[in-house]
Amino acid sequence: MKKLLFSLAFTGLFAYVGHAQKSPQDIIKNLEKKSEAYGTIAQNIWEFAEMGYLEENSSALLQKTLSDEGFSITKGVAGIPTAFIAEYGNGGPVIAILGEYDALPGLSQQAVAEKLSAGKAAGHACGHHLFGTASTAAAIAVKDWMQANNINGTIRFYGCPAEEGGSGKVYMVREGLFNDVDVALHWHPSSENEASAGAALANKSAKFRFHGVSAHAAGAPEKGRSALDGVEAMNMMVNMMREHIPSEARIHYVITQGGKAPNVVPDFAEVYYYARHGQRDVVIDIFDRIVKAAEGAALGTGTTMDFEMIGGTHELLPNLTLQKLMYDNLVKVGGVTYTPEEKAFADKIAISLGYEKANLEVAKNIEPYKTEAKAYGSTDVGDVSYTVPTVGLGTATWVPGTPAHSWQAVAAGGTSLSKKGMMVAAKTLTLTAIDILKNKDIVVKAQQELIDRRGKDFKYIPLLGDRAPALDYRK
Ligand SMILES: [Zn+2]
Repeated sequence: MKKLLFSLAFTGLFAYVGHAQKSPQDIIKNLEKKSEAYGTIAQNIWEFAEMGYLEENSSALLQKTLSDEGFSITKGVAGIPTAFIAEYGNGGPVIAILGEYDALPGLSQQAVAEKLSAGKAAGHACGHHLFGTASTAAAIAVKDWMQANNINGTIRFYGCPAEEGGSGKVYMVREGLFNDVDVALHWHPSSENEASAGAALANKSAKFRFHGVSAHAAGAPEKGRSALDGVEAMNMMVNMMREHIPSEARIHYVITQGGKAPNVVPDFAEVYYYARHGQRDVVIDIFDRIVKAAEGAALGTGTTMDFEMIGGTHELLPNLTLQKLMYDNLVKVGGVTYTPEEKAFADKIAISLGYEKANLEVAKNIEPYKTEAKAYGSTDVGDVSYTVPTVGLGTATWVPGTPAHSWQAVAAGGTSLSKKGMMVAAKTLTLTAIDILKNKDIVVKAQQELIDRRGKDFKYIPLLGDRAPALDYRK
């Protein structure tokens, strides 16, 4: 018996030596030490510049990084080859950290302060290479803290493809992959540091395809029916409709195919539409009217029309219980300062945006806390936020004043400046997850807030319906 006790004590001591107790501050210091390694991962993904559902290398790199740290990986979830879940620990609470890694078409750019293409099909104009990497870094840091302090619970990284128009997370929510999650954390690259209540517009998007009859445009025009006429008639009706929809709504389109030669009546044409508003019921109504315009256009031009739903996302539901916690941690972490070289780069970028010079105070400071926000864009995080209590932040990864989806955002994303902002996000996510694991009351309170905000009759209905993931929408 004595011997057994001794050996237990010895094992205990050994375990203690192997996993020394670590405070959150130790974990943050350790994260800081790995900044360069994470910077390299982000830079690799920036160079891959893979578009939605085509992020094979980016997804594989993050999977390997997490699996090397002891996370178990489930890949190809929700029928999407580049989607995955990395998990560590067991039991509750279950904390999800979301990561994205898709690039945008047509925005190839070198890491220089003038508009210069890198000759690729796409560029990281929304900073998702930083998004995926910082979230990975945070998941690993939380795991380190759990391991060192013997904490029960589960930390998961959700590898979410095709945020830009592909609604990747919607399929993951629809599949029930968030059903056992207690809290979801995310962030987004930005030109300032903020952790206020976020907002996003609900969105429905579709490709409308018109089919006509080809004919010689001069020799036998009466035999032809122009598919492009169908597209143009539809656009005209939708443009008139703008006067009769709520003024906060947004409708935009691009003609993706309009024929090949003026002397051939085009037998095929396609137009790609987005409809957005802060309330998804309004979006559903506007989208139905857009479909009517397309049907009318086909009827009037003697063509036929079909359409394919491409994306659909809920508006973003804030959770103030979690938001204030995130904000307090962001204040603790603080903003970023630039080296003289970074400052010289930032000034040139600022001048290209019409400023006199870069406002470095914005990068250094944290924006005041606000409980309400105005929505401009859309995100598939919206669907997650209606499923589990969700909270996010933004950090200054771009030169202050830089809009997302610009060449200036791609350029900064390829420099050391953006990696600094990325680490601010990684640290803030880590501290927030640790706070939640330390105080289970936060989970209870956040979940009650979600139930109250959704309303008791809420039922999750994906706006893109039952379609399979649009894996080829960028091909
Ligand atoms: Zn984005």
